[in-house]
Amino acid sequence: MTVEKNEKFLKDHGIESWGDFNDAPIPYRKCDISEFWRSFSFKTVLDIEYRQAKLEKNRHDSFKIVTFSDAIYIINVEWVYPNKPEWIATCYLVGCDHEYTIKDLGGCDHIATCKKCGYSYGYNSSD
Ligand SMILES: [Zn+2]
Repeated sequence: MTVEKNEKFLKDHGIESWGDFNDAPIPYRKCDISEFWRSFSFKTVLDIEYRQAKLEKNRHDSFKIVTFSDAIYIINVEWVYPNKPEWIATCYLVGCDHEYTIKDLGGCDHIATCKKCGYSYGYNSSD
């Protein structure tokens, strides 16, 4: 499945620019990889995109952009070999770091609204 990165998508996720093959989406902030795994266990992956662009270091990194329904992560995995060679994953959250307030509409229907950007979505907790 591919998600269209239209104006509504960008606004819903607090993204200024989606970038292109050699530019990362902005804004993004470094986060702990556990945030990604938490989303991975509760949400559906909608889209995965490959990029080569500058992140924190002044060189091009190869990374994946993983889009969930309400969270987007940049995952950069590098082979690091200072002492013991190993694969290290660095994670960045793209766009708004949504903080929701949940409104109970009755009948298991709820609306989650982000306190920061206003993005909202409805869900039924019996599903
Ligand atoms: Zn938000």
